[in-house]
Amino acid sequence: MTDRNVAGSNNSDLTEMNRSAIVRILQQKMCSRADIARMTGLTQASVTKITAILIEMGIVSEVGIIKGNGNRRSIGLRLNAEDKLVLGIKFSRQMFTIGVFDISGKPYKVRQTKFELSQDAGAVISKMKKQIHDFLKKYANIVAIGMAVPGPFFREKGRIAVITELPGWHDVNFVSEFSEEFDKPVFIEQDANAGAMAEWWFGDHIRPVTTLAYLLAGEGIGSGIVDNGNLLLGMKGIASEIGHMSIDVNGPKCECGNCGCLELYCSAAQMLKRVRQEAPGLLVDGNDSRAEACEKVFAAARCGNKKALKIVNEMGKYLGYGCINILNAYNPDLIVIGDILSKGGDLLLPEIQKTVRERVVPEIFDNARIEISRLGIDSTLLGAAAIATDKVLRKPSEYLAV
Ligand SMILES: [Zn+2]
Repeated sequence: MTDRNVAGSNNSDLTEMNRSAIVRILQQKMCSRADIARMTGLTQASVTKITAILIEMGIVSEVGIIKGNGNRRSIGLRLNAEDKLVLGIKFSRQMFTIGVFDISGKPYKVRQTKFELSQDAGAVISKMKKQIHDFLKKYANIVAIGMAVPGPFFREKGRIAVITELPGWHDVNFVSEFSEEFDKPVFIEQDANAGAMAEWWFGDHIRPVTTLAYLLAGEGIGSGIVDNGNLLLGMKGIASEIGHMSIDVNGPKCECGNCGCLELYCSAAQMLKRVRQEAPGLLVDGNDSRAEACEKVFAAARCGNKKALKIVNEMGKYLGYGCINILNAYNPDLIVIGDILSKGGDLLLPEIQKTVRERVVPEIFDNARIEISRLGIDSTLLGAAAIATDKVLRKPSEYLAV
């Protein structure tokens, strides 16, 4: 195994890196060769040579005349995105969702399957595998599979480190289970990292962004950091586990071993626990999923229900503490909040902003934006597709050549 600290780059690696840089630009927008040269720092001659190969491989096409930089008219290039598909899979505590996407993030088909917390892990995995096989049979152009699992996820061991409420899943090796089953490459990431990649690749926000932080506020709390296009992973791939960062060292004990973890105060599960204790009348239908139940609480808060408003405001405050820790630890220019609690973003964001403004250095607050995800689709599911897309675009010759 190569020592990462001193790894070199062979000519073939450099060729692929340059191809990847161009493909990644074209994934965002149509460009002329001159635009690409300006953005990548490659010479015009190099861009001409590399794009000729990408066109020959069927990865890139010419699209006629476009207006380039400074209104100059030149031939446009586009990425052939629609004929290359990836499969995104979101595994969460009560359901799994499988979606087919093209590499521009456009969804083709999404299928959701619920399961009980008490159900045997092996049976659920068999069901997932069968559905994946069905999708691969139906969509022949799928080039890679991305999967998002609840964090923290130990990538080397392929297993989820702490999965609250699902102890039977603790020993499941996701990497071997799924990589050995399919003849397509399978890439697995923890859910918050996947969400961060979804925002990086497909998010509707002002570009350019240098460091993007994604705060997953769902069944649990997590965060993912993308710095200049690369996920911050740490030694074992569990960096930026904000959900298990303590906000009260004397607080209740968490399953991870720490005390007063953020996740114990402001996940969807915690919000509903508080509603059951303080305003049980808001949750009349016991069959609601957590997401559905949370939406009811938000709806009640919007109608002025005082108990609902109090709980929602406190959730906002705790999410604000999470943002403060993210800002101080990673100095992102953008924090995007996604997943279940983002459905109440209109109620939560003012409280989050207020809490953050009061507690961070003004220069940090003024230069960072905090937004609610506008992806319009489950960001973890799209993130699973983004993880696969990112890997595919890093090696275009291997995955995209016709
Ligand atoms: Zn914890």
